[in-house]
Amino acid sequence: MGPGPSNVAQRVLDAGARPTIGHLDPAFMEFMDDLKGLLRWVFRTSNTLTMPVSGPGTAGMEACFANLLEPGDTAVICRNGVFGQRMVEMVERLGARAVVVDDEWGRAVDPRKVEDTLKQTPEASLLAFVQAETSTGAQSDGQALAELARRYDCLSLMDCVTSLGGTPVEIDAWGVDAAYSGTQKCLSAPPGLSPVTMSDAAAERIRQRRTPVQSWFMDFRLVMNYWGSEGRRSYHHTAPVNALYGLHEALLAMREEGLESVWDRHARLSADLRGRLESLGLEYLVPKEESLPQLNTVRIPAAVDDAAARLALLQNDGIEIGAGLGPLAGSVWRIGLMGESCRAQYVERCADALARVLELRVEATA
Ligand SMILES: *Cc1c(COP(=O)(O)O)cnc(C)c1O
Repeated sequence: MGPGPSNVAQRVLDAGARPTIGHLDPAFMEFMDDLKGLLRWVFRTSNTLTMPVSGPGTAGMEACFANLLEPGDTAVICRNGVFGQRMVEMVERLGARAVVVDDEWGRAVDPRKVEDTLKQTPEASLLAFVQAETSTGAQSDGQALAELARRYDCLSLMDCVTSLGGTPVEIDAWGVDAAYSGTQKCLSAPPGLSPVTMSDAAAERIRQRRTPVQSWFMDFRLVMNYWGSEGRRSYHHTAPVNALYGLHEALLAMREEGLESVWDRHARLSADLRGRLESLGLEYLVPKEESLPQLNTVRIPAAVDDAAARLALLQNDGIEIGAGLGPLAGSVWRIGLMGESCRAQYVERCADALARVLELRVEATA
C-alpha cells in the first residue's frame, strides 16, 4: 500500500508464467496487436503510435522527451514534486532548455502560472506536466493544461504513471499529444513496462526532426519498425515477452470490471480511508479537492518515529506504506490505494494497523 508496486492479481502472475515464445512468432504478432488495442482502450485514444516501452515509467518519460525534443529546443516544465524535477533534469541532459513553472509540493499545478509562462515563452515547443504527482499525492488538471498547450502552439506531454487506471485519463477528449505510464501503479501488473501513446501531431514532430534521437534504443522511428506496421514487423530489440503477457492480462481484468467502475472504486475507497485516517487524528498534506484517491499523503504526527512505525507496520501487519521523498522525507507517509491494492479489506486493515502503531507511541510517551 505504498506508491507502487501495487499488488498483482494471481491471474496476472499466472499469465506471466506462460511459455516464453519468440518475439517475432506469428502468435506473438497477433498478441501485440491485441495488447495495443487494450492500451488504446485504457488511454481512451485512437492514436496509431501506442505501445509499451521496454522499461519502467522513467524509461517512458525519457523516451518521450528524447523523441520530442532536439538540442536547443525549449520546453515549459511544471514542477510540483519529484517527478517534475526529474523531467527538468532529462530536458537539460538532452541539450534543450527547461523553463520551469514551480508550484508548492502538495499542491496542483496552477494553470494561470503556466499560461503566464507560455505567454512569455513563445519559443517553447513542448509543455510537460505530471497529472498525478506520486511524491505528494496532488492531482493536476490534465484537460486544462493540454488546452493551454494547444492555445500557445506547444505539444503537450502528460505523465500519467500513477493516474492511468486509477483516475480519469482522456487522451483524445483532452487533446493530449503524448503520454506515458507505468505498469506497477494502478494497472497492477509487474514493474518494467511503460505504455506510451502519441498523437499524429507528435508523431509528425518526430518525423520532422533535424537531428537523430540521441538514444538508439529509444528512437521511436526505429522502435515502431517492431511495434508499428502490423504484419511487417522486424527486430529492434528483444521484447520482454512474459512481462507483456502480464500487462495484457491486467488490462483484460480491468476491461471486465469497466474503466468507470475502476475509477469509482478508487474514489469510494479513498474517501473511506480518509474518514478513518482523519478520525485517528492524521492530517492530509494536499487540500481535499486536489487530492489523488490512489495516493493518500498524511503528515506524520510529531513524536512518531517514521522509520520505526513503517517497520512495525511491515513486520506486524505485512503492510508496506511509502515514506516521504525529497523535502518531504521524514514528514509524511504515502498510502497507496492502487489497482489491486485498492480493496475494502485493505483499507480497513491498514487503518487498524496504523491505529495500533499510533497507540504504541502514546503508550511509549505516557
Ligand atoms: C513511479 C513514477 C514514475 C517513474 O516510474 P518508474 O517505474 O519508477 O520508473 C514517473 N512518474 C510518476 C508520476 C510516478 O509515479
